[in-house]
Amino acid sequence: MLIIASHNGAIGIADAMRALKQGGSAMDAVELGIRAAESNPEDHTVGYNGYPNILGELELDASIMDGKTLNSGAVALMRGFPYAISVARQVLKRKLPHVLLAGPGAERFAREIGAEQWGDMLTDEIREVWRRRLAASTGSGETPDLTADTPLLDWVKLATDPERVAGTINFIAIDRAGDIAAGVSTSGWAWKYPGRIGDSPIIGAGNYADNRYGACACTGMGEMAIRASTARSLVLYLQMGLPLREAGRRAMSDLRDLGGDYIGGMNLIALDRNGEHVGLSSDPERTYIVQSADMAEHEVVQREVVEIPARWASVARK
Ligand code: ASP
Repeated sequence: MLIIASHNGAIGIADAMRALKQGGSAMDAVELGIRAAESNPEDHTVGYNGYPNILGELELDASIMDGKTLNSGAVALMRGFPYAISVARQVLKRKLPHVLLAGPGAERFAREIGAEQWGDMLTDEIREVWRRRLAASTGSGETPDLTADTPLLDWVKLATDPERVAGTINFIAIDRAGDIAAGVSTSGWAWKYPGRIGDSPIIGAGNYADNRYGACACTGMGEMAIRASTARSLVLYLQMGLPLREAGRRAMSDLRDLGGDYIGGMNLIALDRNGEHVGLSSDPERTYIVQSADMAEHEVVQREVVEIPARWASVARK
């Protein structure tokens, strides 16, 4: 039994491991671990109190994948329901003929299954961060009036995510039966264009699990992981026979060949079916966490750096 997670999974990994030890499945552990971050008001990149889109609205994305069956459930652009990972899992559990529900449809589904709904998903503190960020972008210090007709194209190019590519949660678990599950949940890029969907709810981009080989989950600039199918690429490299670390390096270095002006950071965690695990990042400070059944608490592990030269001036931190 083993769990790996992005650094912000520390809040949920002990409960997730307890669930595994008590006979819970990898899917249970992933859901439980991620829920802890989704309700954490201090984590501004996942669930409740995440950074909103450019209009000040919080739109959540999440997905979960069962490596035993390759069944998956995902939601995108969901408002008002903090536990996006649980709603995503229900898309899978209710045996819908669908994998991904977005926007009003995801919200309708969440209501229909009785998912927990919270009236206000943002604290005043985060609303103020958003308001100040917008005001700073105008240059005049005035908060612009973003009505339905206000052109937003330039705003989203100007606005910089205050935590840059530092958010989103990844959890991957292997249970007693050797089954693997992977989950991802996020509020997406701060100040994103309304309706923008990242890699987190896209199976193959930000999340992939297959018992036969292993699993991978990403954080970072989702557009890149979508374009390169990063999570699926890593698992496919495993399928081709590459050792885990090498598969990770290949999946990361594929991102260097992407064209265009918007190239930022990428981070991934992955494990193979033998329980080997790895973390890779374009950011030298990035860590991930790991806990196996025989460990009293989780350990923090440094990620291997794979350089990806940034090409988006306002995002280029490292
Ligand atoms: N990957 C997430 C997204 O693009 C954001 C992040 O990891 O910070 O929505």
